[in-house]
Amino acid sequence: MLRRDENMTDENLIKRLAKEISNAKKVIALTGAGISTESGIPDFRGPKGLWKRYDPEQSTYTFFRRDTKRFWELQIQMEEDGFDLSKAKPNPAHLALAKLEELGYLSCVITQNVDGLHQKAGNTDVIEFHGNSNRAICIECKRCYPMSEVKSRVKSGELPPLCEYCGGILKPDAVLFEEPIPTEALYRAQDEAASCDLMLIIGTSATVHPAAGLPSIAKSSGAKVVEINAEPTPLTGTISDYIIEGKVGKTLPKIVEEVEKLERL
Ligand code: NAD
Repeated sequence: MLRRDENMTDENLIKRLAKEISNAKKVIALTGAGISTESGIPDFRGPKGLWKRYDPEQSTYTFFRRDTKRFWELQIQMEEDGFDLSKAKPNPAHLALAKLEELGYLSCVITQNVDGLHQKAGNTDVIEFHGNSNRAICIECKRCYPMSEVKSRVKSGELPPLCEYCGGILKPDAVLFEEPIPTEALYRAQDEAASCDLMLIIGTSATVHPAAGLPSIAKSSGAKVVEINAEPTPLTGTISDYIIEGKVGKTLPKIVEEVEKLERL
């Protein structure tokens, strides 16, 4: 595995990766909460992660059904604590991935994030592995509502918020612990992982399954696996061929700049 401290400067490592990207037939990206921290959205397990302040048990489907009123109150409290997706804007890392797609080098993004920032940045093929918290969904009829509208209803006392059509309870359209991954997203992500020849793994602790299993699918199908993260993960030294350590808002734009330079040669 290649990393900075093995007699290789950051610059050379980035140049080498840019070459791999420009030579690959199919590059895909798997992203996690770490790509959005520089947009002001806290991650879960990083040093300032939400799990330092909240109990993950309160993000389970059991808790949602047992105490729906409290669950929604916590959604509002988390928004006040910085987990406010409605105001977040794409940062240089999201924009770099959009640029990589525009240049014709990125086939799709599989994201564990629920913030919609890849689409806002301009990526057109985004597989939402864990749904999207900018929407709420009725657990009965599956009708969707904009989250901003539902949160306003909650703030004005509608607890729990109900579907205007069938009276079912509304839930954020994000996958809670214990809920299955949406089937279409799961199968498509597995197919993309099995058919790529380079996977960029960006800003994820690679601990939440089944998303954390996608790099092994890519690797066992012969793909190169590249981690771009602030810290090592369980993939580092096992599955990854490269790790580029540091803030993604700095490293990803540099990588894409190098790819652009190669294209101009
Ligand atoms: P995680 O919190 O488990 O791990 C984030 C990783 O990114 C950590 O290793 C951290 O060190 C790294 N990181 C943080 N900021 C970084 C930066 N600026 N540059 C480089 N690396 C950085 O996140 P996960 O693996 O995605 O799993 C958490 C789950 O929680 C996801 O499945 C997702 O559904 C959900 N989540 C989503 C959001 C969001 O939509 N923005 C935010 C928090 C959690």
